[in-house]
Amino acid sequence: MNSKVVLITGASSGIGEATARRLAGAGHRVFLGARRTDRLATISAEIGGEYHELDVTRLESMRAFVAAAHERYGRVDVLVNNAGVMPLSLVQDLKVDEWNQMIDVNLRGVLHGIAAVLPIMREQQAGHIVNISSVSGLRVDPTAAVYSATKFAVRALSEGLRQESRDLRVTVINPGLTESDLTGGITDEAVRDAVRDQMKIAIPASAIADAINYAITQPPEVDVNDLVIRPTAQG
Ligand code: NDP
Repeated sequence: MNSKVVLITGASSGIGEATARRLAGAGHRVFLGARRTDRLATISAEIGGEYHELDVTRLESMRAFVAAAHERYGRVDVLVNNAGVMPLSLVQDLKVDEWNQMIDVNLRGVLHGIAAVLPIMREQQAGHIVNISSVSGLRVDPTAAVYSATKFAVRALSEGLRQESRDLRVTVINPGLTESDLTGGITDEAVRDAVRDQMKIAIPASAIADAINYAITQPPEVDVNDLVIRPTAQG
């Protein structure tokens, strides 16, 4: 098996953590980033990976994260832009700080990841960028207007990058309801309770990790661009 160097943002919980475990288990060298380094230390120790502190909203932090991995392994094969937040609310409630947080993490963070790895991947003439969008990047629901806007933007960005790149692979992963800590960021109690109720049918984060593993283990000439993985019972 071709062991890849895989960088994962937001690897301290949920889908990022599950992806780290899945890919390390498949023999890849995983490099984990997030703000909660205590969790990264524990996960890395369990799976034999390495980690570096990362705040995706800061370009310098992203550059330091990527540079540390590059220095350690001498290459970067895959970046999984997974870090995300989802403080859902009605637009009329004007939670502007939360809107900006979603733009900063979900969109600007992905742009920072691309900016940090692209020079290395161009030099290698190979690389794979996996961006985590969402079913909310395919449809809009009440309370998810801004969250959806960031996830639609990730899809647009990914498609543009794909069209411009002949030696890079670009994959968008669109999870549906998935077990994770994501609802913890919802400050509107009624919205949080409603979303947690919907989450009763959530699939394990390992289901998303399996899809990411599928995309990155295809032959180099095969570019898996778009995968939707959701609970069978999700409407
Ligand atoms: P979690 O809350 O469990 O994980 C989110 C991760 O993002 C954490 O590791 C967190 O780490 C990290 N993160 C948040 N802010 C930053 C930041 N500024 N810098 C670096 N890392 C950050 O949720 P999920 O696993 O569900 O979320 C992963 C992705 O999946 C997100 O992009 C989300 O939008 C997407 N998604 C999730 C779905 C679901 O149902 N769960 C459905 C569709 C998409 P830390 O706090 O330690 O920095």
